[in-house]
Amino acid sequence: MNFIQTRGCDKNRAKSVTFSEAILSPIASFGGLYVPENLPKLGEEFLSKHLDSSYKELAFDMLSRFEIDIEPSVIKEALNLYDEFDTPSNPVPVVKVKENLFVSELYHGPTRAFKDMALQPFGVVLSSIAQKRNENYLILAATSGDTGPAALETFKNRANVQVACLYPDGGTSDVQRLQMVTEDAKNLKVIGINGVFDDAQNALKKLLASSQFKSALKEKNILLSAANSVNFGRIIFQIIYHIHSYLELVRQDGIRMGEKVYLNVPSGNFGNALGAYYAWKMGLFVEKIIISSNENNVLTKLIKTGKYDLRDCKVVSTTSPAMDILRSSNVERILYDMFGFERTKELMQNLEADDFYELNSDELTKLRECFDADFCNGEEGKKYIKEMFYNYNYLLDPHTATCLKSYETCSNPEIKTIAYSTAEWTKFSPVIANALTGEVDAEDIVALESISKEAKLEIPSMIKELFSKKIAQSTIIEKEDIEKEILKFL
Ligand SMILES: *Cc1c(COP(=O)(O)O)cnc(C)c1O
Repeated sequence: MNFIQTRGCDKNRAKSVTFSEAILSPIASFGGLYVPENLPKLGEEFLSKHLDSSYKELAFDMLSRFEIDIEPSVIKEALNLYDEFDTPSNPVPVVKVKENLFVSELYHGPTRAFKDMALQPFGVVLSSIAQKRNENYLILAATSGDTGPAALETFKNRANVQVACLYPDGGTSDVQRLQMVTEDAKNLKVIGINGVFDDAQNALKKLLASSQFKSALKEKNILLSAANSVNFGRIIFQIIYHIHSYLELVRQDGIRMGEKVYLNVPSGNFGNALGAYYAWKMGLFVEKIIISSNENNVLTKLIKTGKYDLRDCKVVSTTSPAMDILRSSNVERILYDMFGFERTKELMQNLEADDFYELNSDELTKLRECFDADFCNGEEGKKYIKEMFYNYNYLLDPHTATCLKSYETCSNPEIKTIAYSTAEWTKFSPVIANALTGEVDAEDIVALESISKEAKLEIPSMIKELFSKKIAQSTIIEKEDIEKEILKFL
């Protein structure tokens, strides 16, 4: 299958490209994105066939329906990384937490957040394409805390790939920072910058667009790519777990095959929610996708009013920092799917020029047939963390907690909900400790211990070890010096 472009095609690019090409250079004509030409139809027969399959068997069959230009042996090798998750037989456990509410846990990989679901296999795929083409790639990543560790973990010691990872010094949790600065491999460079996440993200965008930087890399025989969430190489792995979670509910007698469910997704850049949308279009039985966000509630406003409005809008720091995003990149792929490339180009250009676009009423109706949304502030989130723990003995992280609000305000209680848990409690422990015991401003190590005691949960070894591991990466610089620092590393 080939990939086409959300804003149509300029004259400089091919009308359609292969999967490999779409993931090596993810930015399409007019600043758009690549999307599959059409989606494979799976239907009930496919679902029934996989009722007894393992996660990997389901994943392999689903991926093969996309007919991408990656050899089956490479896909198998990529999927084998799910064997390193907590329970190899089922990397994504789905837990019933109360009547009609199930939580699909996406955080059982090496870095304890859902980014591993896609980045783990993506690392194998990208490195294998680079080797096959006999090319070397620099992968740039900018992180507010979860993408960085997951990208470093997946590309560590992989052939033909080097990674430069930018993070805001002081802008991540201790655990997230340690996950990055203790990564010791020749092909990895971690750079802290004096600034906030937006500075790191802007620096990355500038480098990706800079012809001067690209020619400096070319002299070293290196090409440039990015591991951000618009890359379809990540999205494709994010369709699988939605199908898997549905099948888990059928297996647990939570639903009968064919029954519709809500998929409730804590969202920032909309990659996870887009995976849910594609799974639905491919034939999964979905009532609606519920989008959960925090105080940065642009997505809720879009879905409620049809207006994407960033005028006078500033990112605020919240207790769910992985969702502190205003320009939610993957919404563009939904626009394309619903309204076509001409309209998508027009809307996205409005957003870029005026920080604003508005859907017409037919378009809004169409969007609302698929999505509903609500946002949850930090105080409400802590209340849900406390309530769910003391009443239902289930520990939520602050991102997952945002789902509880929209579960209450957007769902018909007769219909079952699968809410997605995107991070383990260990990654955001100070907020959770505060919610459970009232302790304020604890350092991660203190908060981890107190939650562990209160909730009678072991701190997983990969988190515990971080605090005594050698610091391998200690570069902290001004944002003006990023380019120089990266070239020095290469
Ligand atoms: C990345 C992330 C999200 C947001 O996911 P998107 O696909 O960008 O919408 C939510 N929660 C956590 C913990 C994350 O790391």
